[in-house]
Amino acid sequence: MVPLTQARRIVVKVGSALLVDAESARINRAWLETLVEDLLRLRGRGQRVILVSSGAIALGRRRLGLKHGTLRLEESQAAAAVGQIRLAHAYKELLESNDVTVAQVLLTLEDSERRRRYLNARATLESLLELGALPVINENDTVATAEIRYGDNDRLAARVAQMTGADCLVLLSDVAGLYSADPNRDPSARLVHEGRSLLPAGVTGTRGRFDRGDTVSVLAADGVEIARGIIAYSDGDAARIMGRKSSEIAELLGFRGRDEMIHRDDLVLLRPHGTGGAAVPAPQPAP
Ligand code: GLU
Repeated sequence: MVPLTQARRIVVKVGSALLVDAESARINRAWLETLVEDLLRLRGRGQRVILVSSGAIALGRRRLGLKHGTLRLEESQAAAAVGQIRLAHAYKELLESNDVTVAQVLLTLEDSERRRRYLNARATLESLLELGALPVINENDTVATAEIRYGDNDRLAARVAQMTGADCLVLLSDVAGLYSADPNRDPSARLVHEGRSLLPAGVTGTRGRFDRGDTVSVLAADGVEIARGIIAYSDGDAARIMGRKSSEIAELLGFRGRDEMIHRDDLVLLRPHGTGGAAVPAPQPAP
């Protein structure tokens, strides 16, 4: 993936929460207009854009008078059928008034998982891009059933990005970032912050056996897991260099390993640093 400004092909995913007004359950027109402006700017720079848009079910359920709460499968399929046409219409109206041809593509999971169908879908998307159209993609919710569906459009957008060789994927949503669980369903869900490396000096102990390259848990002084990562040393070597400066590693071990116990690229923080007193991490094998 490359930065947005340098990308040749960009997949932009739009979530229902941004597109559909929660109160009225109608398309949030003002927001959509600003999105279209952004898409036009990207295209104006010669970048190819593919849109993955949610919103069909949210729009359709209101029109069909379906109440709040979880829909039965047949209800969400029906809502998608009614909402998708409205969604497509809104995109067509706004984009074509700016001279951009819109193409609707509805995919099912099998279109990306089965080779022949994958090749077919990929060829269609390729032709559309070649011809200058802007593909607007959604899951074909009217025929997708619980067992055989992407389920959420983040997943669909990631598959579309792979399929089309996109070098940038943008997920537009009202969620702040990556969480340890779905924050709408699980109140204990925590925002995962990507942060600094774990250096030998910050480690006070090790537990259990692990090898270089294993995934380990990092525990705070109170024993709570605060991060997980791929460790650059075995348990024996880690114990020898813990609490010491990285510059001492070569002397302590007799070879020059990595400066970091766990490099930040290999580390996922599950809880912000600095809460619950001094962080005194100790690697142990991940459960
Ligand atoms: N495909 C669904 C829809 O258009 C949305 C799935 C999602 O929100 O991720 O309503």
